Amino acid sequence: MLLTRSIRRKMTFGLGVLFLTLGLLSVGGISGLSNYRRLVKELKLSIELTPRNADLIEAITRLIAPLSKEYLAEDQVETQRLAYQQQRRKIEKGLKNVEVITDRHFEKLERYFAKLSEGPHSLESLKQQQQSCFLLREKIQDLVFECNQNWEAWVDPGRHRQALALFLSNIAELTSYIKDLPEPAGEENMQPRLEDARREYRAYLWLVWVTSLSALGLFLFLAYFAYRSVVTPIRALHRGASRVAAGDFDYRINLNTNDEISELAAAFNHMTERFQSIADDLDRQVKQQTQQLVQSAKLAGVGFLAAGVAHEINNPLHAIATAAEGLEYRLLGLLSHADEQDAAIIREYLQMMQTESARCRNITEKLLDFARGKESERNQYDITAIIRDVVSMLQHVGKFRDRTIHFDVNDPHYAHVNGSEIKQVALNIIANAVEATKPGGDVSISIRETPDCVEVTCRDDGCGMTPDVLENLFEPFYTTKLSGKGTGLGLSISHRIIRDHDGVLEATSDGPGQGSAFRIRLPKKAQRTRAAA
Ligand code: ADP
Repeated sequence: MLLTRSIRRKMTFGLGVLFLTLGLLSVGGISGLSNYRRLVKELKLSIELTPRNADLIEAITRLIAPLSKEYLAEDQVETQRLAYQQQRRKIEKGLKNVEVITDRHFEKLERYFAKLSEGPHSLESLKQQQQSCFLLREKIQDLVFECNQNWEAWVDPGRHRQALALFLSNIAELTSYIKDLPEPAGEENMQPRLEDARREYRAYLWLVWVTSLSALGLFLFLAYFAYRSVVTPIRALHRGASRVAAGDFDYRINLNTNDEISELAAAFNHMTERFQSIADDLDRQVKQQTQQLVQSAKLAGVGFLAAGVAHEINNPLHAIATAAEGLEYRLLGLLSHADEQDAAIIREYLQMMQTESARCRNITEKLLDFARGKESERNQYDITAIIRDVVSMLQHVGKFRDRTIHFDVNDPHYAHVNGSEIKQVALNIIANAVEATKPGGDVSISIRETPDCVEVTCRDDGCGMTPDVLENLFEPFYTTKLSGKGTGLGLSISHRIIRDHDGVLEATSDGPGQGSAFRIRLPKKAQRTRAAA
C-alpha cells in the first residue's frame, strides 16, 4: 500500500495532498476572482456603451433655450423678426446637435442590442425595445423636418406664435415619448444582468466554500498522517532510547509503519539484544572472576598454612622413614631366630611405616610445590605428544585395564608451556576421569586449536558431579574419595599450574551419573612476564 512503504513515498504522498489542497484553493480563488473581473468588465461596458435617453432629452430641451427672447415689444416688428431669425439660427444649431447626439445614441444602441442578443435575453422583448427606439429616430427626424418646414412662419411675427406652439408641442411630445421609452442602462435592463451576476456570485461563493472546506479537510488529514507516520514513531524511538539508556535492556520498540523508521526500530532492538547479551556475558565473567579471586585467596591462605605444616612434618617423616628402614635392616638377622608369625608381623609393620611415611612425604612435597608455585622453564611443547605419553602410561596401569581411553589426535599442537607441569595436570585429570568410570567405561580426549589457544578436552562417562562438587572441585583437600584414597590436592594444583600459564581449567557435568568433562585451555604464546615465585 502507498501509505506503508518508505518515508520518500509518504513525503511524495503528503506533497501530493498539499498540492491538491493548493490547487483546490487556487481554482476556487482564481475562478471566483476572474468571474468577478468579468462581471465588473461587463457592467462597465454596459454603463459606458449603453446610450442614455437622458442625453437625448437634454439635447432636445436645450432647443427651447433660445426662446427666452421671444416676448419682445409688439410694436417693434423688425426687431422681432431679427430676434426670431436669431432664435431660428440657434434652434437650427441645436437641431444639428440633436442630430449628432441622435446618431451617436443610435450607434451605441445598435452595439448594445448586438451585445444583448448574445446574452440570455428574450428575443421578443429585445425586438420591442428595438422597434420603439427606431420609432424615436423617426420622430426626431420628423421634428427636424417640421422645424425646417416652419422656419418661414417662425421668423414671421404674425405667424410666429403658431409656429412656436407647434414647435413646443412637438418638443413636449418627443420628450414625453423619450421619457416613456425604457432606459437601456436603466434598472429594468440592468436587472437581469444583476440577477445573473448575483447567481454567479452565489455559485462561486459556494465553490470557494467547498474548495476551502475540502482544502481544510485535506490539510487536517495531512497533519494527522504526518503525526501518525512521523511524530509518533519518532517519539516511540525516543522513549525506547531513553529506557535502554536507563539500563532497561528488556525494552523493545514495536513499530508497524513498514518504513525506514520501523527498520531503524528493528536495528535498535537488535542493538538492545546485543547489549543485553554483552551485559549478561559481563555479569557471568564478573561472577566467574569473583569466584576465582575468592578461590585464589583461599588457596593462598591454605597454601601458606600447608607450607608451614608440611615443612615442619617433613623432617620428622624423613626421620621415621629412615628409622623404619634402619630398624628393618638391623632386625634382618634377629628375625631369622624369631617366631615365624611374629617376624612376619614385625616386617609388615616396618614396611607399613616406610610406605606410609613415604606417602606422607609425597603429600608434603605436593603441598610445598603448591605453596611455592614453582617458577619453571617454558618452551614450545607439543601438547599432543604430552597427552599421548600420559595416555599410554595410564593404559599400562593394571587397575585401569578394563577401561578404554580414546585418543585419536595425531597432528602436533604447540603451546608455550612447561612440559612436565602440563604432564602432571594431564595425568591428574585423565587419571581422575578413568577413576570416575566403572569397569568398561570410556574416556575420550580431544585437542582443538584456535588462533590463540590449544584446547584439550577430557570427557568421561563416569559418576559425574553434583553442583556442590563442581563448586568445590578446585579447593585444596577437597575430595569425595574414601579416606586414604585421595588427597584432594590434584585438581587444586592443576588449577594453579594452568592459571600460572595464563590458561583456563574448567569442569562441567550434567549431574551425577551423567559423566564429566574437563577442559584445559592453554595460550599458544607467552602471555606476560610472570612474577618470580
Ligand atoms: P583426589 O583425586 O585426590 O580426590 P582431586 O583434586 O584430583 O583430588 O579431585 C577432587 C575431587 O574431584 C575428587 O575427589 C572427585 O570427587 C572429583 N573429581 C575429579 N575428577 C572427576 C571426574 N572425572 N568425575 C567425577 N568426579 C571427579
